[in-house]
Amino acid sequence: MTVSYLTTLGLNAFAEAARAIPYQKVRSNLFPGVEVWIRRDDLLDPLISGNKAYKLIFNLIKARELGVETLITCGGAWSNHLHATAAAGARFGFRTIGIVRGERPPVLSAMLQDAERLGMKFIFVSRELYRQRSQSDFLNRVGVGSAIGAYLPEGGANLAGVRGVHLLGEIIEGTVPINFDQLWVACGTGLTLGGLNSSISSFPVHGVEVLKAGGSVRRAAWHWFAALSQYNTSGLKKKNAGEVELTDEFHCGGYGKYPVRLQEFHRAFEMQAGIPLDPIYTAKLLYAISRKANEGHFSCGTKILALHSGGLQGRRGFQLGC
Ligand SMILES: *Cc1c(COP(=O)(O)O)cnc(C)c1O
Repeated sequence: MTVSYLTTLGLNAFAEAARAIPYQKVRSNLFPGVEVWIRRDDLLDPLISGNKAYKLIFNLIKARELGVETLITCGGAWSNHLHATAAAGARFGFRTIGIVRGERPPVLSAMLQDAERLGMKFIFVSRELYRQRSQSDFLNRVGVGSAIGAYLPEGGANLAGVRGVHLLGEIIEGTVPINFDQLWVACGTGLTLGGLNSSISSFPVHGVEVLKAGGSVRRAAWHWFAALSQYNTSGLKKKNAGEVELTDEFHCGGYGKYPVRLQEFHRAFEMQAGIPLDPIYTAKLLYAISRKANEGHFSCGTKILALHSGGLQGRRGFQLGC
């Protein structure tokens, strides 16, 4: 597989890159009785990759159309969204400001070092102030002023963001190499699950919660499905609208938790399949499928597609032990 870069900011170029994403059959004994494939959206671009790229694309196009020069967004010290936004800014000529949760650490995380190298300016805010990030006067309180640029919510969670994921669903429908029985995806907020579920009708979409979500993932999937229906009903899947299938048994203790059993699975998977995963999202996704396969949850020969939603930059925050 060759490395390719998104070079121009435009929907056609982006969709072309997305349609070229490979589907790879997993060769491993970790999934007895089922056939697992991975759609490698981690390969969309070395820096602007995974589901964060899909959440960004319509936001970036709109910002360019409006003549916006600066993108302002927020996230934690290992946020894949901050990283992707910094990279997109550097690539397509936007200034970027990242509002980061917590005090500035003496040594920046590898992720923040990357973002700084890519030109992002940081504003570190207390956790208390950070909690107000959805309020209308947040930028003023942080001292940026909304006149400076366009504000992208954390994780790219807005209508433009979910439209990008809806597009990903359409592209998956149009490019799958075989007839899959199920699509599995890792869920943080649930926006990606909701967006995919809105445009994929050939097989059910199944989410794996990577944190103790307490119902928020299901609510978000509904919320974004409803937001898309108001925006445009033509491309929406009508079947069991907004209803999603979710598994909450594999968060392994919570967000960012990486217990030994997950580490062992992660290492074994990478050695056998030769496909890198990130500890926070995609390792838990494949772990969930593996456990379900071993528990006899699937009928024999079930064909499962797993979405590689990227996030490999986050590997550096963990001791992978290999
Ligand atoms: C952000 C992220 C997710 C979760 O996406 P949501 O839309 O918040 O559910 C999954 N995988 C990776 C690699 C991510 O960076």
